[in-house]
Amino acid sequence: TVRTRFAPSPTGYLHVGGARTALFSYLYARKHGGQFVLRIEDTDLERSTTESVNAILEGMTWLGLDYDEGPFYQTERFDRYNQVIDELLDKGLAYRCDCPKDRLEKLRIDQMARKAKPRYDGRCRNRQVDPSEPHVIRFKNPVDGAVVVDDLIRGRVPFSNAELDDLIIRRSDGTPTYNLTVVVDDADMQITHVVRGDDHLNNTPRQINILTALGFEPPRYAHVPMILGDDGARLSKRHGAVSVVAYRDQGYLPEALLNYLVRLGWSHGDQEVFSVEQMIELFDIGDVNKAASAFNKDKLDWLNQQYLQHAEPGHIARLLSPHMGKLDIDPSTGPDLADVVKAQAARAKTLTELAEISTFCYRDFEEYDEGSAKKHLRPVAREGLEKLRAAFELMAFEDWTPEQLKHVVERVAEELEVNMGKVAQPLRVAVVGRAASPGIDETLMLVGKDATLRRIDKALA
Ligand code: GLU
Repeated sequence: TVRTRFAPSPTGYLHVGGARTALFSYLYARKHGGQFVLRIEDTDLERSTTESVNAILEGMTWLGLDYDEGPFYQTERFDRYNQVIDELLDKGLAYRCDCPKDRLEKLRIDQMARKAKPRYDGRCRNRQVDPSEPHVIRFKNPVDGAVVVDDLIRGRVPFSNAELDDLIIRRSDGTPTYNLTVVVDDADMQITHVVRGDDHLNNTPRQINILTALGFEPPRYAHVPMILGDDGARLSKRHGAVSVVAYRDQGYLPEALLNYLVRLGWSHGDQEVFSVEQMIELFDIGDVNKAASAFNKDKLDWLNQQYLQHAEPGHIARLLSPHMGKLDIDPSTGPDLADVVKAQAARAKTLTELAEISTFCYRDFEEYDEGSAKKHLRPVAREGLEKLRAAFELMAFEDWTPEQLKHVVERVAEELEVNMGKVAQPLRVAVVGRAASPGIDETLMLVGKDATLRRIDKALA
């Protein structure tokens, strides 16, 4: 069965590039009825943090990228790595190296001067190094022949062994290095398909050599191209939010971000909107672009708006609730938030905006929008507002319905012999604070009778 993994290093938050890699890996597993494993590569003790682990887990959960196994932590597997390193030593597939730093440095400088690729010259391959003296352990890379990475995205990428040197697999402090831990884990976790960023492509021939030496069959690889900012440079903090959780906090829907990410470097005809189920059905890793793709915030905004408008209002309401909370609004104190979503969703690009334009449903606004007030709350509007107030006051609680409310506004307009807007716009500014809101009947429904009367009084005062 297919088994894929996502293997982030917890040295920062989960960024959109990592999330897209995780998504592709997840989709591949789901599409083939396989398993998706989460592995935290926390062997860099200095740079790995618990906050970062939590941020990664939080991002995964929010996006709904559920894993079947894990999280596994590499720091809990040092014994196993050492066991494998000892096995390689015993079999003569690895060796101790005590070359001093200055020798390696001189070697490097000489090679650079000859315009050669810096690589270890294998001096310790056939030397006996005293295990009680400081040393590193190197993998004996094959000296000739080639390794071909048969990549699912890139196609066949050959590497000559002559270009690969004897990689350090255990540092002098006894800790195993990245290429060793990845290889042991991919083998032990029976990973069949490695989907990762193409910054790792150069590690792949080395990893294949170590796997082969250990008698494991290497997995298939798919190296995903990077994501660029709109200026063509690699996407980074400079380009705005990059962390997945920051997008959540800015009011993006997880399904919109996933949809956006799947389209970065992958397409299916000219279809733009994909549910996760459709992604699973249609995604094919072989169709992912070889070239890097550029992050386009406008497109993400457009998708977010699509989801805001078309997803089930109750679902949006659940996601909106914390954004109302940030504005100190407890949605249980007013109209059903799903009704607010139904009325307002078309007016906002993000949940944050949706929350901001919906506070009027739960509390009195502080100030009128200046332009709206100037235009609509003029003395000529007084009579209409007074008549409306009087009519509303007489309405029973059960009559406070869109039909009745609309009827009242129409009647007042008729009485004054003006068109409905002349009455409805001042009313809207009076109850919402600005001239933009859903239909006046819906608006009044959301605001409720008490607040409507109170706010009209304020406008008339
Ligand atoms: N831990 C590595 C990283 O975050 C990924 C290694 C891999 O996927 O093989 O870059």
